[in-house]
Amino acid sequence: MAKIEKYSYTRLSQYENCPFCYDLKYNQKKFISAESLVTAMGTLIHHIEEKISRSLKEGKAPNYKDLIEELHYINFPKRNPYDTEGDIFGIEILKERFKKDYYAISEKSGLNYPAKVNQYIANIDRQEKFLLANPHLEIFDVEKPFEFDFQGKVLKGKIDRIIKYKNENKYQIYDIKTRDRLFEKEDITTPLQHVVYGMALKDILGLEEEPTEYFYDLVFLQVLQPAGTKGFIKRGKTKLEKIFNAIQSQDYSPKPSPLCYWCDYSNTNPNVALEGQNLCPYYSLWTPSDRKNFKTKFLWEGPEKTEELINKLKEENKNSFRGFTF
Ligand code: SF4
Repeated sequence: MAKIEKYSYTRLSQYENCPFCYDLKYNQKKFISAESLVTAMGTLIHHIEEKISRSLKEGKAPNYKDLIEELHYINFPKRNPYDTEGDIFGIEILKERFKKDYYAISEKSGLNYPAKVNQYIANIDRQEKFLLANPHLEIFDVEKPFEFDFQGKVLKGKIDRIIKYKNENKYQIYDIKTRDRLFEKEDITTPLQHVVYGMALKDILGLEEEPTEYFYDLVFLQVLQPAGTKGFIKRGKTKLEKIFNAIQSQDYSPKPSPLCYWCDYSNTNPNVALEGQNLCPYYSLWTPSDRKNFKTKFLWEGPEKTEELINKLKEENKNSFRGFTF
């Protein structure tokens, strides 16, 4: 029997951002084990927030002293390559492992991680205060797994936090983010992630309609930013359908952008892993120190040219120190 393909929001947004990158990752299985401070910090904060939510859901007072200790010192590696729970590391490990990134000040927010972590610790009781200020609300579920059918495709994932109106069949959906700036207006008009979560909760609880209230919990900013404008679930479903149709048609053309600088397959990425080098010949030449450069290494001329361009790239880079040049 053919294996049923399952799609997470991350997988779909990968296609949206760059179909060529999607093809490398999900079809060609070029998984790169590159770690980053952003993902490691996200995992750590999700872990702490989950513990706080679970205590509050059970009507217990969270032990903030122990949680702050854990935030600093947890050292929980994966037990085996298939372990989905492990790889949670505390601030003391992360600041050594990613020293440069940890202390770097973001140009956009003017903050660095020490400042963000201090803010987080100072407000670690935010969830409790939120519930006290909103006695009509309660935590309904945390890290809720889901899997449901959307037009013959299986969508799967986890919802970070679900809040319920007491005595009503009405819910709010929260997604935790460790970014240090608010989302731009265009990013929250039709947020696909919340579209998927809304459909998932409708499916899990057998609701007549998807919930109408969605938020990003920006933990480092202590802001709950509402997500989705009127009619966004309907628009999101159309968007999802288009993405699935494009995947079906095997359109894997690249979408080079400044984001290439952080892509696992871009030679411009200063942290690119050895196994990620030279896999994409279409990367943007944009870098933080060359912000006006929107040229690409090679132009896309269809999939049949890719191998030839990769060989060209390899040839160009065979003698360079990092194994490649821009
Ligand atoms: S480097 Fe850029 S164009 Fe290439 S796969 Fe990554 S995001 Fe896509």
